Amino acid sequence: MLANKPVIGISAPLHPESRGYRVSHCYADAVAEAGGIPLLLPAADSPEDVNYLLPLLDGVLIPGGPDVDPLFYGEEPRQGLGLVIRSNDLFEMNLLKAARAAHKPILCVCRGMQVLNVTFGGTLIQDIPSQLPGALRHMQIPVDRADPTHSVDLEKNSYLYEVYGKDTIRTNSFHHQCLEKVAPGFSVSAKARDGVIEAIEQKEERILGVQWHPEEMVHAHPEHLGLFQQLVEASAHPGS
Ligand code: MN
Repeated sequence: MLANKPVIGISAPLHPESRGYRVSHCYADAVAEAGGIPLLLPAADSPEDVNYLLPLLDGVLIPGGPDVDPLFYGEEPRQGLGLVIRSNDLFEMNLLKAARAAHKPILCVCRGMQVLNVTFGGTLIQDIPSQLPGALRHMQIPVDRADPTHSVDLEKNSYLYEVYGKDTIRTNSFHHQCLEKVAPGFSVSAKARDGVIEAIEQKEERILGVQWHPEEMVHAHPEHLGLFQQLVEASAHPGS
C-alpha cells in the first residue's frame, strides 16, 4: 500500500467531431485501480503552458489516438497516412519534453509511444500494410478489445520485463503505424514476431512506451495492470 496517491496526468486530445476533448475512460480506470489519481489534461492551444502543469503531476500517461504528423520526423505524408491533429501532437510533445526534464515517470500507449519516439528524435512507418507488406496484421479490428491477438517477445533486464517477468506475452494490437528509427538514448524492449517494435524505454528515467493497449486488457488479463502499477509506484517516488 502506497503512503501517498500520486497524481498521473493523462493527455486528453482534442476530438474535433464532438467539439470536445476525449480519452477512453479505461486509462483513468486503470490508473485508479493501480492506486493513482488520474487527472485529465486537455490538449490546450498553448503547448508551452505545460510547464505550469508539471508541478501538479507526479507522473504522465500519453494515451492512444490518431496519427502523428510526419512533418515532425522530416517526412512528407504518404497515401496510407490517417487522421492527423497537429495541435494534439504539439501538446503531447511539449508535455513529454517537460515531464522528462522534470524527471517524472512516463507511460506511453500506442500512439503515445509513437509521439514519444518522434519527440526525442525517432521516426515512424506511416502505414504498416503499404510499407511493410510482410508484416503481421497489427490492426486487429473487429475483435473484443481485451483479446490478445499476437505474441510479443520481451528483452530480459528491461524495465518492461520487470512488469511481466517473462519472455513472451500476448497482446491486443490496434495500430497501422509503428516505429522505424528509435529515438537516441532509448532502447527496444519488445518486438512482435515480424520484427515490428512493440515497446521502447529509457529504464533509468522510468520512461516506457508500449504499442498495445494494456488499459483494455486489465480485467480479462490482469498481468497488464502491472504497467499501471509500475507507473504509479515510480511516480510515488520522485526521481532526480
Ligand atoms: Mn502490434
